[in-house]
Amino acid sequence: MTDDRKLGFNSLAVHAGYHVKKGPVNPPIARSSTYAFETCEDGAARFASSGKEGIYSRLHNPNCDALEQKIAALEGGYGSITTASGMAAVDVMYYAFLEPGSHVVATASLYGASRSILEKDDHYRKWGVSATFVDTSDVDKVRQAVAIPHTKLLYVETPANPTMAITDLEQMAKIARDAGIPLVVDNTFCSPYLQKPIELGADVSLHSMTKSIGGHANAIGGVLVTRDEETCFKLKHHVMNRGAVLSPDSADLFFTGLKTLGLRMERAQQNAIAIAEYLGNHPRVAWVTYPGLKDHPRYDLVESGRQMRGPGCMMVFGVSGGYETATVLLNNLNLVTLAVSLGGVESLIQHPASMTHAGVSRENRLQAEITDDMVRLSIGIEDVDDLIADFDQAFAKV
Ligand code: PLP
Repeated sequence: MTDDRKLGFNSLAVHAGYHVKKGPVNPPIARSSTYAFETCEDGAARFASSGKEGIYSRLHNPNCDALEQKIAALEGGYGSITTASGMAAVDVMYYAFLEPGSHVVATASLYGASRSILEKDDHYRKWGVSATFVDTSDVDKVRQAVAIPHTKLLYVETPANPTMAITDLEQMAKIARDAGIPLVVDNTFCSPYLQKPIELGADVSLHSMTKSIGGHANAIGGVLVTRDEETCFKLKHHVMNRGAVLSPDSADLFFTGLKTLGLRMERAQQNAIAIAEYLGNHPRVAWVTYPGLKDHPRYDLVESGRQMRGPGCMMVFGVSGGYETATVLLNNLNLVTLAVSLGGVESLIQHPASMTHAGVSRENRLQAEITDDMVRLSIGIEDVDDLIADFDQAFAKV
């Protein structure tokens, strides 16, 4: 047996979670919903052990187990729990950490649905849950907001979706520790390859696996990675009891997708650096925000490698003339696809104000600096010259 602790990221991505000397190199897909017991005593023993012996697939599934081990190894967590979607992970996390009357401090430009369920969902309204959305890149603002009584959770997305604002996670971990509350980080934009929140002091790192972890836009899923056993156990039980489990087929797609995560991220990031420079120099582009450009407010944090291994594949920009003008660009792109989602092998472009963040009021969007002219771009692994040629022909029509 290999000692996983000695392996590098790509070796872990390929091998962690399923070691074999003989037989199939990927876990066979276990679609069976239920497992036969040899005797009544065997059945009773399996229930009594609450171990990973086959009982029923909502409780444990070998494909989900293997994927959970791989992700925990990649993020340096105690364990991880897969869920039916990224939003199931977010909701289970809120459900587990909040109680009636709780207050949450969260990044203002949080993923639209993660923010709007705190603001509008009937269940959290009935519980009287309140939230303060702040620019978490401003440490003093976070410290002030956390001081509000009944604060039970600090929830940070960095880089934020879609503004690309970067929050210092070590500082957030210190604030959360001082306040005695958990720090949860949505790490979807970075993936475990670029950022490991648990190692920086977070209690839970959460992903929409639908994005970079899967990488091929072919499955929906989420995951919660935990620092300790107790939180892992608690979250696992919430997922099992609410039935928000991942299917074995999707687990298999994520398990195989993860094997190339490092390679995909490196290539997409290389393309993104070139595209950010291209857009930054384009006469029809008013502004670009990308953590790999020197004018990004936290370029220092990215460059130092203290928090992120690189600037990633996500950026936002504005077209001169505003969104009316930008629609001509978006409607004329051929290779870059007009679609929501991100982090996959294909380059995707979308308009947050009318798409991913349409559920957040305009007033709250503007407060979170999600401007009407903002266009979000997720760069894939295509040949960069082809991406630039596509932008050239579309800009010519603007
Ligand atoms: N978090 C972020 C940053 C996202 O971008 C998304 C989806 O776009 C989610 C969470 C929700 O994930 P899912 O669509 O898998 O439910």
